Amino acid sequence: MWKGSVMPTIVKEEKKTNTMKALVYHGPGNKNWEDKPKPFLQEAGDALVRITTSTICGTDLHIMKGDVPTVTDGRVLGHEGVGVIEEIGTGVSNFKKGDKVLISCITSCGKCDYCKKGMYSHCRDGGWILGNKIDGTQAQFVRIPHADNSLYHAPEGVAEEALVMLSDIFPTGFECGVINGQVHPGDKVAIVGAGPIGMAALLTAQFYSPALLILIDQDENRLQVARAFGATHTLNFKNENVEEKIKLLTNGEGVDVAIEAVGVPASFETCQDIIAPGGRIANIGVHGKPALFHLEKLWDRNMSVTTRLVDTVTTPLLLKVLASGKLDAARLGTHSFALSDILKAYDAFGNAAKEKALKVILKA
Ligand code: ZN
Ligand code: ZN
Repeated sequence: MWKGSVMPTIVKEEKKTNTMKALVYHGPGNKNWEDKPKPFLQEAGDALVRITTSTICGTDLHIMKGDVPTVTDGRVLGHEGVGVIEEIGTGVSNFKKGDKVLISCITSCGKCDYCKKGMYSHCRDGGWILGNKIDGTQAQFVRIPHADNSLYHAPEGVAEEALVMLSDIFPTGFECGVINGQVHPGDKVAIVGAGPIGMAALLTAQFYSPALLILIDQDENRLQVARAFGATHTLNFKNENVEEKIKLLTNGEGVDVAIEAVGVPASFETCQDIIAPGGRIANIGVHGKPALFHLEKLWDRNMSVTTRLVDTVTTPLLLKVLASGKLDAARLGTHSFALSDILKAYDAFGNAAKEKALKVILKA
């Protein structure tokens, strides 16, 4: 039995170290920055990471609308982040306490059949689980399963604001858009959607020196930013006929690569309207509704359509490009908030057009 005045102090101390603040989902339209139990190591391969920088994704807004049924009441959101390792499980060998790390939006064991094929997104014991099926990165701490394969060492001298864009945005734009679209030197490329993912596709498509890089959106501010990021042309579908304009720009042929970076039926149809014979439509968008595929127009076009959930297999490559100074990832961060002001950050990101927001940076 405890006697005297010692116990209350200890209890208070334990309570303090075992809770944290986190952005918690409470059903469609309901979220709160509140106390949660601090995560702890559950498996030998786990790492506990103290978040230093996080951000909000368009996917989090879909979750808030109730579009992602795997996310249940009480879930801590967020699948992007940079942090410092607080603790590692006995099975973790690539990292140690105190290492600064990039957290991949995709958790992967590195050992299953899908992982062996480089399809980390379909890992038998991972995939997109952070801020979805397990608690995520919009918190002071996060538990990362399969840490050896799901974390990356932060390169020296890279700002966290830039690094955090490699959790999801850059691998997604690059793998699902540019790589699947097989962008070649001299290609005519159109990207439908000038949000953060479309911008990441725009920046990484330039690795391959396409001849034309046409950005299509309805937000004039975003189109202006796209021009600053290297778009050769921009089209505003609110007041321009995209199909006709693209014909004019491509000798009537259409584009070699059309990248869909929105996730609505109309933008997928736009890609079909502008694709040249032999072209590739690369879908990135997360679609919640059926979209028409005009096989009656496209059956003889020698074209292909690809879909993909990001595997994050290009993260090591992107880290090298970032560290070399050849990828200006930090430019996507338009707003910065303290992590504890995350509710304000959600408001700004949710009103992206009015706020002229691309990515909002959260600093712990
Ligand atoms: Zn995301
Ligand atoms: Zn796996």
